[in-house]
Amino acid sequence: MENVAATIADTWSRTLALIKERMSDPIYFEPFFQDTHIDHIEGKVVYVVAGTEVAAKTLSSSTFLDLANQALQEVTESDFVVQYITPVEATKSDKKSLNCEYFAFSRLNSAYTFKNFVAGASNREAYGAAIVASERPGELYNPVLIYGNSGLGKTHLLQAIGNAIREKRPDLNALYITSHDFVEEYTRYLRGEKTQSFVDWFKQEVDVLLVDDIQFFAKKPSTEETFFAIFNAFQGSGKQIVLTSDQHPYKIDGLSDRLKTRFVAGLPVSISAPEKEVCETILKLKIEANNLDINNFDPEVISYFAEKFGKNIRELEGAFARLLFHAVNLFPTKHIDLKTAIAAVNPLADVRDDLETLSIEKVISTVASMYGLTSSQLTGKIRTAQIALARHIAMYMCRSLLDAPFAKIGAAFGGRDHTTVINGVEKVEKSLKDDPDLRKVVKRLETKLKG
Ligand code: ADP
Ligand code: MG
Repeated sequence: MENVAATIADTWSRTLALIKERMSDPIYFEPFFQDTHIDHIEGKVVYVVAGTEVAAKTLSSSTFLDLANQALQEVTESDFVVQYITPVEATKSDKKSLNCEYFAFSRLNSAYTFKNFVAGASNREAYGAAIVASERPGELYNPVLIYGNSGLGKTHLLQAIGNAIREKRPDLNALYITSHDFVEEYTRYLRGEKTQSFVDWFKQEVDVLLVDDIQFFAKKPSTEETFFAIFNAFQGSGKQIVLTSDQHPYKIDGLSDRLKTRFVAGLPVSISAPEKEVCETILKLKIEANNLDINNFDPEVISYFAEKFGKNIRELEGAFARLLFHAVNLFPTKHIDLKTAIAAVNPLADVRDDLETLSIEKVISTVASMYGLTSSQLTGKIRTAQIALARHIAMYMCRSLLDAPFAKIGAAFGGRDHTTVINGVEKVEKSLKDDPDLRKVVKRLETKLKG
């Protein structure tokens, strides 16, 4: 161990020498670089303690950082990078540093936290289970398994557990990997590229094991067996395991029965498509995170995105990123309305068509609310005189205000035939001639819808 420490110290002093030699103005060397030393190494990141907070900030500026990275990489002949921390952060992180024989590439993404995870009914159980696993690792449920379709936040939660443990329990090593990483690293071990035993490494180095996408263990019997051994060792010694899968383990073809039963023996929780409010909150957070003003977005833009892309949050984020790119870089505009939004996410889509559908929906909901009905009552099958009248008026408005095709109006009214729509519209046209009350109603609706 002492040897390792000496080697690390030596590496840094050689790096410093190189930095000093190359500085354009060596006057900066002493105040900033002189008192630095390596705190610990995680994967490819070398954490260096700066003398003061100001020094840490200054050294993190791109000129100094490039200089240091370059020097370090030359000295180590490897792609390490420097990350500066303050003395306070260094004492806080009385980290066990992970021995990097295996999974040196494994990295937690600090962007995934519990704080920026939006909880709703669809993911509340998974969110709760993840919090428990991070706050009381190994104590309550082992393993925790989160399963559900792609793009719903499984990786986010798994990484958030890792980040929370790193922050609150620096004495524990949390390892985040995918089952795919596991297979690859195990293969390297089998090829004789490693010295330490694979299973022993896990037992000795890792305290919390986070494995993403376990479905890739299927049909790989020898890897599975090794994972089984590690899994049992962790469970036996009360070390937390958290797994994610894109489906319930029982549905994974080619996964052995004993793994299936083990995986669901702790706390299996599913995660499903988010409700609209969750999507809307995620988008609002994105707007904030991009330093944009929410007031510049028409509320219907947020609602449109949540509805259209909300089945998969990854897609929702992707579509919204396109909108931001479009509206901020391509065609800078302060105010983002529905038309800009639709054009941004799908330049090929028929914007008029989408806008028309949305407008028909708006006519329906406006007429419905004027008659104290819901939209689905208005477009549904019930035919009391009152509802039928409202329905015909709504059809008439779609035609007169939007000039929408009869067939399209029919489709929006619960799949009615275009002749039904024509009849309804004609009825209203006739009545308008000698019914001043109806004329008033139509006028009021027009003002509402155009305003
Ligand atoms: P999965 O692993 O289930 O395929 P991810 O965790 O990769 O999905 O999530 C996809 C994207 O959506 C990520 O950028 C993630 O941050 C984001 N995301 C998913 N769920 C939420 C949520 N509830 N709150 C905030 N962001 C979320
Ligand atoms: Mg994932």
